[in-house]
Amino acid sequence: MKIKNRTDKNGEIEDLKRRLLDAEETLRAIQRGEVDALVVNTGKGEQVFTLQGADQAYRLVMEQMSEGVVTLSPEGVILYCNQRFADLTKTRLEKVISSNIYNYIQSQAHDTLHQMMGQDGRAEMDLVVADSSTVPVYLAVRRLSINEMAIISVIVTDLTEQKKKDQIISLKDEFIGMVSHELRTPLTVIMGAIYTVIAPRVPKQDKRQLLKDALASTEELANIVENLLELSRAQSNRLDITKEVMDMRQAAREVVSKLSKRIDKRRLIVEMTGLPKLTADPLRIKRILYNLAENAMKYSPEGCAVTVFARADHDEIVVGVKDHGIGISPQDQAKLFKPFERLDMSPQIKGIGLGLIVAERLVQAHGGRIWVESAPGKGSTFYFTLPLGSAAGGQASFK
Ligand code: ADP
Repeated sequence: MKIKNRTDKNGEIEDLKRRLLDAEETLRAIQRGEVDALVVNTGKGEQVFTLQGADQAYRLVMEQMSEGVVTLSPEGVILYCNQRFADLTKTRLEKVISSNIYNYIQSQAHDTLHQMMGQDGRAEMDLVVADSSTVPVYLAVRRLSINEMAIISVIVTDLTEQKKKDQIISLKDEFIGMVSHELRTPLTVIMGAIYTVIAPRVPKQDKRQLLKDALASTEELANIVENLLELSRAQSNRLDITKEVMDMRQAAREVVSKLSKRIDKRRLIVEMTGLPKLTADPLRIKRILYNLAENAMKYSPEGCAVTVFARADHDEIVVGVKDHGIGISPQDQAKLFKPFERLDMSPQIKGIGLGLIVAERLVQAHGGRIWVESAPGKGSTFYFTLPLGSAAGGQASFK
């Protein structure tokens, strides 16, 4: 039995050797170009793979890659590219092939690309797209020699998503810096006031004024924190609106009282007309009014009037906060309702760019809309609507 086994093993080894030699011979024949088809014994019987088929498989892989793949002549003429590259450039594939790679690269990067085509290399640059926009990409360039012909292969990775992530990270950093700064200012006032009040021999009137200043700064702090909380609730769909019958005039008065230090300091005049009783979330209505009124005061010169008014319009109430301040250009109006967006003209005035986005989210949570009518130098009126009617369970009384 033992001898028979060994004979079997020897036989197997011989068979394997023979198959290995066959395989080597086939490979050499392929390399020499003598064979253009392979017969492979698979579990499903014999299958024929032509070399043309193998080439097609490569092409299929290239076509399905999430990177753009391009082959170039040494002069930069595109000899082949996959659909992904054509999509990236927003140009038809037939048009891309035979055009020049430099047409799709921003001119500032032409020298870098030229160098990479001479000695391989990798670099980030911008693709210039058919609609004149640009796409950030990472280019990996390699020189190949096929049948003694110099060819350059380029793999193009779209960096748009990566750049967006980087931008979010840097926005977050910027935001943390900005919020910390905004929180520190009122905190310094509060601490200074308290230290002075508890110090010996401070006259009673001074103590009163210091505590008033501390209170105004506490309101400022509370406002920043409340806006941050509201935005975070809105982002995670947790803005639960609790409607009840409320008096908008009373709400506006409370807001004005919280802003009284600013009003006194800048000798502003606040007017209120036609503010109704209605059904809405009182805390949220006060927040919207606070954010809009605070802006109206911040972006107005001294001694100006700020008006809060309302009127019924079909099945909704239209509320407006009007100022006679610096105004906003049409281009800037388009940017207003974005988180942390501050217009270029307001760097000296404090703020973190949250007031309007929070107002917008709260108005929308009530089923309303918000917009601005403004012109530079002519003041601004921010409007918002609150729906009436049975669906919202709403009512309003303008008496
Ligand atoms: P913040 O006032 O904290 O910067 P907001 O979201 O409330 O943030 O406002 C965003 C930007 O819109 C402000 O930085 C300012 O440039 C502009 N803006 C808002 N309200 C007014 C207004 N009433 N008049 C002029 N510009 C305004």
